[in-house]
Amino acid sequence: MELNLLTFLYLVASVTFIVGLKMLSHPASARNGNRVAAIGMTLAILGTIFLYEEEGARLGNYGWIFGGILIGTVVGTLAAKRVKMTAMPEMVSLFNGMGGACAALISLVEFDHLAHLDPMMAGVLLMGGAANAVKGFLLIIVLGLIIGSVSFAGSIIAWGKLNGSIKDFSFKGQHIFNILLLAVIVALAAYLIVFLPANAVFIFYTIFFLSLLYGVFFVFPIGGADMPVVISLLNSFTGVAAACGGFLYDNKVMLTGGILVGAAGTLLTILMCKAMNRSLTNVLIGSFGGGSSSAVAAAGGAVGSHKEISLSDTAVLMSYASKVYIVPGYGLAVAQAQHACHELEKLLESKGVDVKYAIHPVAGRMPGHMNVLLAEADVPYEKLLEMEQANDEFSTTDVVLILGANDVVNPAAKSDPASPIYGMPILDVELAKHVIVNKRSMKPGYAGIENELFFRPKTSMLFGDAKKVLQELVAEIKNL
Ligand code: NDP
Repeated sequence: MELNLLTFLYLVASVTFIVGLKMLSHPASARNGNRVAAIGMTLAILGTIFLYEEEGARLGNYGWIFGGILIGTVVGTLAAKRVKMTAMPEMVSLFNGMGGACAALISLVEFDHLAHLDPMMAGVLLMGGAANAVKGFLLIIVLGLIIGSVSFAGSIIAWGKLNGSIKDFSFKGQHIFNILLLAVIVALAAYLIVFLPANAVFIFYTIFFLSLLYGVFFVFPIGGADMPVVISLLNSFTGVAAACGGFLYDNKVMLTGGILVGAAGTLLTILMCKAMNRSLTNVLIGSFGGGSSSAVAAAGGAVGSHKEISLSDTAVLMSYASKVYIVPGYGLAVAQAQHACHELEKLLESKGVDVKYAIHPVAGRMPGHMNVLLAEADVPYEKLLEMEQANDEFSTTDVVLILGANDVVNPAAKSDPASPIYGMPILDVELAKHVIVNKRSMKPGYAGIENELFFRPKTSMLFGDAKKVLQELVAEIKNL
């Protein structure tokens, strides 16, 4: 009866994961989608703790279990409450690393169980024709170990790179070294599983160590701006590693959850590569935005002179326009200017101006960053246009106001094959009549490269912190 109740809870949890994931695909339902999946996860965890039985015995150890849950809940809640929107990718990476570590720990524990099987029992298993079953079990354990360890070590390096505490590091021939390292790991794993050698414990721990090393070297050389793609890829690794745990324990909900994370992470990785118009291989070995010498050199040299525009001229230009597009970028998030931005949009709309937002898929520092930011300020979703739609509209737009965006409007992505962002689709803001760029200085954006758009005849610079500038702009327009 209780086992049936547990199975039922697992089924409910699996359904909530799928429904939650579906709801995450739209900003309006994303918050509730998260809640639905969290409720399912709570049911699955509590069900396992109180209803799971092995050989007639419950789990017990409640002090340890709830002690761990309490610590995790406090740390997780505080971290999530305190994290700044701009530091979100770092946190995602850190949490993902913890998932990978859990999957690797499961493998370590289960290998230990296997290695310390009663010798008689082990002999019976092996001689009784069950060697294949042991090998199958070991295969899953080793897979979980390798993928979980790579995901853990890689995510920690990604976290450090994003918060600036770890610098890019690469050496000549690193990609060859990485491939060789991976080949050694796979060869050792095959040897261990096929031959079940006497020194299995040593080999197992060597695989563990080399996998951690591989995770570190895998992420080290990848360029800064490619981090989100890598985090998404590592996220899918964690999902696959968790699914291995589901196989080991014959636990359906763990299997479903792992597969969903693995599949969603893979799809997101592919979509992000597409948004940047690059292949995954190019992301993994391309070093985009990693401060390559050409990027740094480009950042050093100006490409002409720029012109500035005053607040009052901007106010007049925008008030008398019939169509205005706002291009939000990372700087808008830094300035926390989303509310001021929404106020400007409403004010202009009240004057009969058609205002929309052009959203680049990699604007900001995480997938969907701008959507989340603007949703926080209650900007209606129908005002947010995706890149392709916006690009069709720019030629009939009077004013494009760029707020703290840089790389996503950099024409070098189209015109300069030597540029590290060459090939990335951009917002074609130059098709509009006027382009106004708000940022604090002429400094480059994430990719560390100069932006020729700032020097083009149609472009005017409106310097200052985005929030302050927007508040002053609103005041100016009100006084017109
Ligand atoms: P960028 O990083 O290219 O540019 C942001 C600009 O904002 C800077 O040039 C900066 O200029 C300006 N800025 C910073 N603070 C303020 C402020 N307070 N007020 C006004 N302006 C400010 O941002 P984009 O959004 O255009 O491009 C995103 C980049 O990040 C891409 O290269 C993308 O590949 C990468 N990336 C994307 C991720 C994602 O998933 N979306 C994750 C990680 C990286 P100044 O200092 O002069 O003010």
